[in-house]
Amino acid sequence: MTIQASEARPGAAELPLSQISATRGGEKQGAAERITLGLFIGLPFAALLAAVPVAWGWGVGWLDLTIGVVMYFIACHGITIGFHRYFTHGSFKANRALEITLAVAGSMAIEGPLVRWVADHRKHHQFSDKEGDPHSPWRYGETVPALLKGLWWAHMGWLFDEEQTSQAKYAPDLVKDPAMRRISRLFWLWTLISMLIPPLVGGLVTMSWHGALTAFFWGSLVRVALLHHVTWSINSICHAIGERPFKSRDRSGNVWWLAVLSCGESWHNLHHADPTSARHGVLRGQIDSSARLIRWFELAGWAQDARWPDAERIAARRTA
Ligand SMILES: [Zn+2]
Ligand SMILES: [Zn+2]
Repeated sequence: MTIQASEARPGAAELPLSQISATRGGEKQGAAERITLGLFIGLPFAALLAAVPVAWGWGVGWLDLTIGVVMYFIACHGITIGFHRYFTHGSFKANRALEITLAVAGSMAIEGPLVRWVADHRKHHQFSDKEGDPHSPWRYGETVPALLKGLWWAHMGWLFDEEQTSQAKYAPDLVKDPAMRRISRLFWLWTLISMLIPPLVGGLVTMSWHGALTAFFWGSLVRVALLHHVTWSINSICHAIGERPFKSRDRSGNVWWLAVLSCGESWHNLHHADPTSARHGVLRGQIDSSARLIRWFELAGWAQDARWPDAERIAARRTA
């Protein structure tokens, strides 16, 4: 059965997602769905890229882009290695210094305080694409309008939901840790630092206010915006499209073209099939920079007991 968009209700309790899920699986995606999805994803991003050549030389330069890229990947790996693979799923053990570094680096992505992020994400795994999932794109049904509405919800809308995930219930381990509570509460400070590093570096290197301003625009604003959309795309796009070579109880998919920008998180089908795995890109050629860094942390002696997937474990989770 399909649920029309007009029947959709905002109250989660009234959404018959569990009924829909029973009839899901395997069906092909229509051309109309593909095209709308492509436009929804591609157009704003193309507009942003088009701004670079227009502003080159006066509003953006190599320094701005370098600062932006470095800050992007520090914060991105803070989220993927820290908030996600370490704090949410415990896919490896970290010494205290690495743990604190990851908590601060992840906070600089400005995706909310650590404890809230972890609680939301654990709830997402518990109910993935069913009633109770904080951000499923299938919330309103399976028609094109319902999916568009659902994609918006899964991407950003859910952030404005009045109902908040219980932190005491979903992240008791972090709530109990005074240092992690403190880092979580100091979220405003990490936000400030994250926004101020780029203009500080840009201003000092060029010794000009103009340099500080362009570095702030690209290194702070555009960088945070891009990282937000990439992270949220894991919740929206990676639960709507992508290949599903592994068994999972939801609609998570592997989306190859987001692999580099998402620091390896877009191999999302494997992640739902094996949530504690330290590596998400387990198949040949699947780039996963987060897994590579965790391996380096292990070699440096800062991390231990990473749950690396072996061939048998991977094979057991294949759909065919
Ligand atoms: Zn997911
Ligand atoms: Zn996860």
